[in-house]
Amino acid sequence: MKYLPVIGLEIHLQVKTLSKMFCRCSSEYFGKNPNINICPVCFGLPGALPVPNKEAFNKAVKMAMALNCTIARQTKFDRKNYFYPDLPKGYQISQFEQPIGTNGYVEIELKGDSKRVRIQRLHLEEDTAKSLHLENNETLIDYNKSGVALIEIVTFPDFEELNEVILFAKRLKQIARYNSISDAEMQKGQMRFELNISVKPFDMPKGELPNYKVEVKNIGSISVLEKVLAFEFKRQTELLDKNEKITSQTRGLKGMTGETVFQRSKETSDDYRYFPEPDIPPIKILESDLNSIILPEQPAERKLRYINLGLELEQSDILVEYTEKGDWFDQFVKLTSADKTLIKEGAKWLIGDIAALCEKKETELGKSLISPQALLSILELLHSKKISGSIAKNVLEKVFVTGKDPVNIIKDEGLTQLNSEDEILEIAKKVVAENSKVVLDVAKNPNALKFLVGQVMKLTKGKANPNIAMEILQRIINKQ
Ligand code: ZN
Ligand code: MN
Repeated sequence: MKYLPVIGLEIHLQVKTLSKMFCRCSSEYFGKNPNINICPVCFGLPGALPVPNKEAFNKAVKMAMALNCTIARQTKFDRKNYFYPDLPKGYQISQFEQPIGTNGYVEIELKGDSKRVRIQRLHLEEDTAKSLHLENNETLIDYNKSGVALIEIVTFPDFEELNEVILFAKRLKQIARYNSISDAEMQKGQMRFELNISVKPFDMPKGELPNYKVEVKNIGSISVLEKVLAFEFKRQTELLDKNEKITSQTRGLKGMTGETVFQRSKETSDDYRYFPEPDIPPIKILESDLNSIILPEQPAERKLRYINLGLELEQSDILVEYTEKGDWFDQFVKLTSADKTLIKEGAKWLIGDIAALCEKKETELGKSLISPQALLSILELLHSKKISGSIAKNVLEKVFVTGKDPVNIIKDEGLTQLNSEDEILEIAKKVVAENSKVVLDVAKNPNALKFLVGQVMKLTKGKANPNIAMEILQRIINKQ
């Protein structure tokens, strides 16, 4: 039988704040000595009182707005009770009944189409400690991470294939960064996934869901996510084909291969004995609070802006993802007085030649000496035929390293394009005379002519106008 996957995501996003969610301990734990950032509040000692972090709260509201959520007018914190060594208090302060945001969506762009992934809820909570499982079966616990502010985002089961999940994860990360909510670096555990996956017969009506849900926790990278999806889809379809019943359950990862193992039958919210956090009063969110939050240009808006400027989809995606490049490009666009040809060429050079130079010189765009103004000068020199394409690339590399004005480089090094037909004719004659075998090939092999043009370029050190050279060569050969 054929099956379709039904996929939903829960995402935990670490909020970028100086201190933890409910105390003044530093939230920095990456690369720190263990158990140095702890206090009676985040350690859950009797009598300690939590105080919500305003910065984290505001960022959660901002994120909810960026995800098009309805923002609660009143929200509160609840205790989620469960017993685990990485949870010093025996409960996690989270939000149950009144999350900050509900019913939002994220638009993802599929090939020639777009899709809305609906967000069920967004709430604020605190992170757990970090467990280190040793080979001798002992476990060490580092409480530095315990209490760090977390945003949890839950989607509806709207994903139908892996590609959609990946696009969503990328877009969510961009939204978190654009709005300064989180750096969302997965390698640092700042963005983590829980996957809900079940499968349904392909002919089950749209909108209808299977009667079970398998949850896989703590997925820290897109590649593992991809493997888990493949593994679970295969495992579940095989069980269903054998007419076995699948119950709702939580599964854990076995290494990084995507293989999952049964952990426990799924808890329902009842199992957590949620109750209102008695030490934190409910928080009102006023209209004026919302009005004071101004969202910057969002990734989707930026992409649309680039498409409207005439850029290719892939170019737009690169400039949206790598904001350093995007910001540089925006400065370039400002200098072009909206000339679409220049804008398109600028994008091509930035993503092509300049990116290649960054790689070659092992540096970043921001550390190179090329400015948007310099690229514009090079393109203008190229358009006015003062320099050839190959010289332009040559000049680009010189500017990249020295930061000199392209006009001066061309003047100082005598690189102006050779447009004089008489001078090119002399050189073309020489090339034809020296390559008689290739000349015989020109009629049937177009590459032969290109080779001859290349020879003219070589003899003129790249300065000849290649179009003129080609015309002249063709003329000489036709006469022969
Ligand atoms: Zn603390
Ligand atoms: Mn959570």
